[in-house]
Amino acid sequence: MASASHRRSRRTRRVLAVSTAFVVAGAGAGFFVMNANAGGIDLYHQTLPAKDGWAASGSGTSGGAKADSAHTFTVSTRAQLVKALGSASDTTSRIIKVKGTIDANTDDSGKKLTCADYASGTGYSLSAYLKAYDPSTYGRSKLPSGTQEKARAVAQAKQAKNVVFRVPANTTVVGVPGTKAGITGGMLQIQNVDNVIVRNLTFAATEDCFPQWDPTDGDDGNWNSNYDSVTLRGATHVWVDHNTFTDAPRFDSANPKYYGREYQIHDGSLDITKGSDLVTVERNRFTNHDKTMLIGSSDTDSVGKLRVSLHHNVWKGIVQRAPLTRIGQVHIYNNLYDTTTLNGYVLQYSINSRAKAQVVAQNNYWKVAAGQKISKLLSGDGTGSVAGSGNLVNGTTTDLVAAYNATTSKKLKTTVNWTPTLTAGLQTSAKNLPTELATTTGAGILSGG
Ligand code: CA
Ligand code: CA
Repeated sequence: MASASHRRSRRTRRVLAVSTAFVVAGAGAGFFVMNANAGGIDLYHQTLPAKDGWAASGSGTSGGAKADSAHTFTVSTRAQLVKALGSASDTTSRIIKVKGTIDANTDDSGKKLTCADYASGTGYSLSAYLKAYDPSTYGRSKLPSGTQEKARAVAQAKQAKNVVFRVPANTTVVGVPGTKAGITGGMLQIQNVDNVIVRNLTFAATEDCFPQWDPTDGDDGNWNSNYDSVTLRGATHVWVDHNTFTDAPRFDSANPKYYGREYQIHDGSLDITKGSDLVTVERNRFTNHDKTMLIGSSDTDSVGKLRVSLHHNVWKGIVQRAPLTRIGQVHIYNNLYDTTTLNGYVLQYSINSRAKAQVVAQNNYWKVAAGQKISKLLSGDGTGSVAGSGNLVNGTTTDLVAAYNATTSKKLKTTVNWTPTLTAGLQTSAKNLPTELATTTGAGILSGG
């Protein structure tokens, strides 16, 4: 087993020995900067190891590793986080250490804000909104417009101003070990910037107070929400490592239905869209969620981009989009899919390959409960590919594509237009993943702060 952590520990010993010599010579700091992806460096300065997925290509991903002390922050409140993030267009390297749990739904003095606080003064009320756009009177042919929809948008913008955190280029946002570090109710927005690291954080309860009704979405209409816990839009070189994503404590099973449709307050956990490229998503836990990960937001999102590596993640108690892929070259390896129903989250499918996505799914492990149809683990529109081998279902080598294709006319293609080469830590067998990933994934297990 050649796991990344094993390689890192070997490097640690070597680098520590060498760096001692440099410190004696008075050049230790320079050495560390040049070799920032080696071990022996604290959690906050670590960078993506060489060849560790698509984010390692080209200039690699170092986040804020070069930050000076004036741009190294420890934050414990929303206001402190906003201040540390600074301007979205400032490219100065920065490290932001999150200590404890930050509640995004708080004001600058730390006072808790509720949905009613955001709605206050806007004229919006859910009951008035429901009355205004009831399909029996408003119809189903057009989006809501008029007084209540305008008021809803104003209230939503008030919440967005509070809960959306724009992350600038050359930034590391990282949880301080042992502090239950994370963000509740917020969205990290990594948009049109390069070189960002997000590590060791729990993202929970990202909720939209003001879902919008769209009667034209699907056959029956849908309630749509606005916030992903982490969203990448036009972002490049992003490493998302050792985080936990969950809807807890309020699960979708608590959502009411209006107009016969679920009043969905959640959007994605981690969406990678609008021409984002060169992303590595590694050793995260995705739990208790429906629309977990989009790669590409439409079938015309961005040709030639959306290159993403997903490895050693745990997907447990999720409904769909793990991920939903479009267009890009996506390597999905050594992940654990536990499809057991959790807190009312019932699996629809794990991986969807559509809009000519070029997916290589290799050496993943599906742990499925009795009665779970193997043919339902994949999905597609008939143009996407899923290549790869070594995937296990309850320990047995299984051709998931063949199982899926036997039941549908929208068959997955089995060849892709690329061969993954940035595959650090790739394990040639999925056999040990259930045991190994139980203790090596998610927020709160990294140390070295
Ligand atoms: Ca949405
Ligand atoms: Ca989204």
